[in-house]
Amino acid sequence: MKTLKCDLCNHEAQGETFEEWMNALKPHYGEAHADVIHSKSGLSDEEKRKEMMKWMAENRARFDAA
Ligand SMILES: [Zn+2]
Repeated sequence: MKTLKCDLCNHEAQGETFEEWMNALKPHYGEAHADVIHSKSGLSDEEKRKEMMKWMAENRARFDAA
């Protein structure tokens, strides 16, 4: 089990795998960083997909290094 901070604040989430960690972080993201999600609502689906891929790549690397 790894503990890793949110990429935007000091909130910590835990997971055995990156996917578990991401799922554990999701409710926090929706609550604490709704503005970030909202700021991306104007993007096209393609742009949103790219942003998500980038976010996942960056955070997967952080998770693996933790
Ligand atoms: Zn956060």
